[in-house]
This record gives sequence, C-alpha cells and structure tokens, in this order.
Amino acid sequence: MTNTAISINRRYLLRERPQGAFSPSVLELVREPVPEPGPGQALVRNLFLSLDPSNRIWMGEGESYMPPVAINDVMRGICVGEVMSSNDKAYPQGSLVIGLTNWQDYALISSTRSNGARPVRRLPRIPRVKPQTMMSVLGITGLTAYFGMLDIGRPKRGETVVVSAAAGAVGSIAGQIALRRGARVVGIAGGREKCDWLVNDLGFTAAIDRRAHDWREKLAAATPNGIDVDFENVGGEVMEAVFERLNKYSRVVLCGLLSEYSEDGRTPGPRNFGNVLMRRVTIQGFNIGDYTPRFWRASLQMLAWLAIGRIIDRITTVEDLEKAPEALVGLFNGENIGKLMVRIA
Ligand code: NDP
Repeated sequence: MTNTAISINRRYLLRERPQGAFSPSVLELVREPVPEPGPGQALVRNLFLSLDPSNRIWMGEGESYMPPVAINDVMRGICVGEVMSSNDKAYPQGSLVIGLTNWQDYALISSTRSNGARPVRRLPRIPRVKPQTMMSVLGITGLTAYFGMLDIGRPKRGETVVVSAAAGAVGSIAGQIALRRGARVVGIAGGREKCDWLVNDLGFTAAIDRRAHDWREKLAAATPNGIDVDFENVGGEVMEAVFERLNKYSRVVLCGLLSEYSEDGRTPGPRNFGNVLMRRVTIQGFNIGDYTPRFWRASLQMLAWLAIGRIIDRITTVEDLEKAPEALVGLFNGENIGKLMVRIA
C-alpha cells in the first residue's frame, strides 16, 4: 500500500436533491484518507468515471430501477478502475474492473453481495483496446445500443430508423448498428458539427439539427416513407415529432427520456399518443441490466466490428475528477460528442 499511503481520496457527496436541472451546488467535494481493504475486500483506484444522464435520475426521488443516492452518500457512478491491493481472490492486484465505484478516487469493493450492490466485474485486458473503450462501445452504452436496436428495434434492410441524441454515446452506436443492418438511418442531434459528423464520418443517411428553426420540416423531408423504428433517447418534443411520422406496425425502442429526467418523471405524455393505437405501434422500454448474461457475446461482436472499422467509437474526455460536476451540466447542454467520461487517474 506504499503507493497510496500518503494519498487522499477525493469524493463527491450528494448534499441535497436537485430541484429541476442538475446544479453542481448539490455536490460537495470532500477529502478523506484512502481506505485500507479489510478481509474479503479490494481497493480500487478509479481511472475513468462515466457521466450518464441517469446520474440525474439517481439524485432524485422519482421512480427508478435503483434507489436514489442517499443524502450525504458518495455520488453513484460507473467507473473503470484498477485493483491496487486485495484481500479478495476474485479481484487480484493489477486487475481491471468496471462497476459502481462512484465519484471518488478510490473505492473498496467485495465480491460478496453483503450490501446488496451489484458486483463489480473484472475486465479482460485486450491488446490495443484502451480501458476507456470498455466503458464506451464495449461497455454499458455500446451494449445498450446493441440490445435496444437488435432485440427490440429489429430494423430490416431499407427500413427507416430514427435515432435521437444521435451523436451521443448510445445514439451514435445504435445508428451505426442499424446501418450495418441495411437500414436508412436518420439522426437527430444538436448543432451542425454533430450532424456533419453523423453523415460524413459515420455514414448516417441524414442528420437533423434539433436547434434549427425548421427541424420538424427537415425531419419530414428526411423520412419520406415514414419511420419504421424510433430509437428513443430523449422524449419530449423530439419524440412527439417522431411519433407524428411513425408507420403502421413500427417499433419504438424506449431507451431513455432524458429531456424529462430533471422533472423527476412528472411530465405529460406526447399529445399524439393516439398514433400508437391507430398505427398499431409497439413501444418497449428496456433496461440494460436485464441483459447481463448476454454481455460477453455481444461485446465480442462489437469488438469484431470495432476492429474492422465497421463501428466508430468517439469519446469526449474531461480531465480531472474535480471537473465532473461541470461536465455533467455540459451533458444536458449537449456539449459532448460520443461517450462523455472523466479521467480520474
Ligand atoms: P448522450 O451521450 O447521448 O448525452 C446526452 C445528449 O442528449 C446530449 O449530448 C444532447 O445531445 C442530448 N440532449 C440533452 N438534453 C436534451 C433535451 N432536452 N432534448 C433533446 N436532447 C437532449 O447520453 P447517453 O448516450 O449516455 O444516453 C442516451 C440515453 O440513453 C439517455 O436517455 C439515457 O438515460 C439512456 N440510457 C438507457 C439505458 C437503458 O438501459 N435503457 C442505458 C444507458 C443509457 P444533442 O444536443 O446533440 O441532442
């Protein structure tokens, strides 16, 4: 433990629940001694922290698939980390791990589920694959895109797929997977730079800038035969515009509703929800946690696509844990392209 004995552990604690949009003032940075692993525990140094729209959900008390972060607890977050010292055979020293090791430099983990938390998974060290890739295209966001698009969206050759937050972590991969299936893929994203990236670099059929005044007309022009699959990431007015153009027997992959997370789940539904009935639309919500037994096989497929350039992965990296709160504000302002993460160490 000589390498950590004089270190401190910076941790962000949730001091209050945000009202509306996330504000960094609800978090407090504290400095504590690096903990020593007890029997059956390992000490992890976090390398990268994933910033996710779900961070805002976890801070609030709206209905969720996980309990809210308790006031004064360390902020919950997914990290890739390295085991520094270990009394747990499941996590040998030097191994790479991923899981909820939270907004802090160091975390104690254990392979036993004594606190009910999901176990931290060990990761293979794959030649030429960076640890941060295990949190983007080969991690939760890539796998969310994979299962959402292939299990629920099931696009067929020639069908029209629309992806919202298309230049983000999940959306950029979901759109590329649909392209691999031979679909026409229309992305919706904020700003010219993102739209150019989607079309020129990723090969999207078209991209709609949701900040342009005439984006609804542009969406109609880009989907002349209607929409067969909606990979829905944001909800709100974007989803309503997409619902207007859904075809008979179309599928809505309800991946996320991030425009509503700051309202803690109390927003009115789309005004044109009746289209779902009239057009026999299937809407399916899903949570990636339900797909854990299939992760490895899907990751191998993604790795193969990545290796031959069939999937392009982009990461926006923010340097230093102390920039994390501002970076999370930026996520909701659309400042990231691809997967947003913070380099901690
Ligand atoms: P992104 O990387 O896509 O980042 C969020 C993006 O959303 C921003 O860059 C911005 O892009 C867009 N955005 C932000 N606010 C709004 C708004 N009010 N209206 C429209 N767009 C907005 O995040 P992720 O890829 O990590 O997450 C995408 C979605 O996937 C989220 O809803 C998330 O909760 C969900 N998710 C679901 C999982 C599941 O198991 N079901 C697992 C993981 C993620 P722009 O300005 O370009 O539109």
